[in-house]
Amino acid sequence: MARAAVLWFGKAMSAVPLRTMTDAAAGQRVVTVLGATGSIGDSTMDLVRLGGERYRVEAITAHQNVEALAKLAREFNVRFAAIGDASKLDELRDALAGTNIGYGAGESAIIEAAARPSDWLMAAVSGAAGLKPALAAVDRGATIALANKECLVCAGDIFMQRAARAGATILPADSEHNALFQALASGNREELTRVIITASGGPFRTWSVAEIEQATLAQALKHPNWSMGQKITIDSASMMNKGLEVIEASYLFALTPDEIDVLVHPQSIVHGMVEFSDCSVVAQLGAPDMRIPIAHCLGWPERITGPAQKLDLAKIGSLTFETPDFSRFPGLRLAYDALRAGKGATTVYNAANEVAVAAFIGERIRFGAIARLVESTMNEMVRTGSMSTPATADDALAVDHNARKTAETLLPQIALKAS
Ligand code: NAD
Ligand code: MG
Repeated sequence: MARAAVLWFGKAMSAVPLRTMTDAAAGQRVVTVLGATGSIGDSTMDLVRLGGERYRVEAITAHQNVEALAKLAREFNVRFAAIGDASKLDELRDALAGTNIGYGAGESAIIEAAARPSDWLMAAVSGAAGLKPALAAVDRGATIALANKECLVCAGDIFMQRAARAGATILPADSEHNALFQALASGNREELTRVIITASGGPFRTWSVAEIEQATLAQALKHPNWSMGQKITIDSASMMNKGLEVIEASYLFALTPDEIDVLVHPQSIVHGMVEFSDCSVVAQLGAPDMRIPIAHCLGWPERITGPAQKLDLAKIGSLTFETPDFSRFPGLRLAYDALRAGKGATTVYNAANEVAVAAFIGERIRFGAIARLVESTMNEMVRTGSMSTPATADDALAVDHNARKTAETLLPQIALKAS
C-alpha cells in the first residue's frame, strides 16, 4: 500500500533546517503545549521549566481543569490560555484576573492557541478531538512534537500531506516512534527491511482470555511500567495502544503493514528498532520515562540535558522479548486488518475504540468487549457501505462521527454477548 507524504526519512532528515526562532533576538525558543494539564503535558512543562530562559511559552490548553490551567499560565506567564469546555470561560477569566494573559474557551479557542505563532508545539490532547487543533499548527508550518497518535489514526494521510504542503516538521513524541525516528538516521529508505516497535504487554500480559474478559477498571489502570493518562493506560491493557501505534508508524514513516512488527518486551527499555538490508538492527534504549522522547523532540535537531534516570543495564540484568498473542489481544490484529483494508478503516478503528473505552470506564461493557465492539463496528461500516477513503479532514471527521454512532448502536448487543 502506498502511503503519501514523508517529511523526512533516514539520513535525509539531517537536511531539515531548524526554523528561525520567533524570539531569536532573545535567544528563546517559543513553545505551545496543547493538553498541558495531562500526563504528556506535565512532562513537557517539566522540561520547559528546567530549560528556564531558553523557552518562552506562547499558549497552553486544557479540557476542563481551569485551576491547573490557570496555575500553569501564571507560572509560565503565557500569552494565551484556552480551555476546551466552552462553559468554563467565566471561571477561566476569574482565575486569570490581575494578569495580562489572553484567554478563550471552546474548541475554537484551542484551535486559536495552536494557530498562534510559535517555533515548537506539543500536540498532547487525548483522542481524535486533537485533530483540528493539531492541523491548525500543521497549516502554519510549525515544528510539531506529536504525542496525540489518534490524530494520525483518524486522518493520517491527510495530516501528513498537509504537513508536507505547509512545510511543517512532525517529530514523533510517542516513545516507540521517537525510537524509530532516531534509529532511522542510520540508513536510507531503500535500505530498510522492517521496523519493530515494542510493547510492555500491559497488566494482562500473562492473563487468560477468560481473565481478560472480566478485568476491572482498577486492574486495567495498573500499568506495570508507564504512568500515563487514563485512556492510553486502558489502551495499553487491551494492546489497542499498540494497534494505534502500528497505524501511527505506517502513516508517519510511509511503511506498509508488512514492514511493521511488534515485539512484547516487558521491561520497556528497548523502545523501537530498525532492521536494514545488511541485517543490522539499530535500536534506541532508555528508561520508561516520557521525558526522554519529549526532550529529544524539544531539543531537536540538537540534544538537551534531560532529567530522566540514566539507564543502568547491569542493574536491570536481562531484557526479554515475546511474540504478541493476537488471540488474547485481538485489538492488535484488528489494527493490521484496518491498515490493509484502507478506505477509512483506521478512522473507524480509532473512533470505535474511543467509544468502547468510554463505555468500559462507564461500566457499560466488559473489558473483553472493547475489541469486539471495534471489530463489529468495522464490519458494520463495511456492510452498510459506509467506508470511504477520506479526502479531507472534514471527511475523516465525518467517518469518525458515523463510526461513533454505529458503535453506540451496537453497544447494547455487544454488552450482552460474552466471549
Ligand atoms: P491525559 O488524559 O493525561 O491528558 C490529555 C490532555 O488533553 C489534558 O490536558 C486534557 O485536558 C486535554 N484534553 C482531553 N480531551 C480534550 C478535548 N476534547 N479537547 C481539548 N483538550 C482535551 O493524556 P496523556 O496520557 O497525556 O496522552 C495525551 C496523548 O499523548 C494521547 O494521544 C496519548 O495516546 C499520547 N501518548 C501519551 C503517552 C503517555 O505516556 N501519557 C505516551 C505516548 C503517547
Ligand atoms: Mg507509545
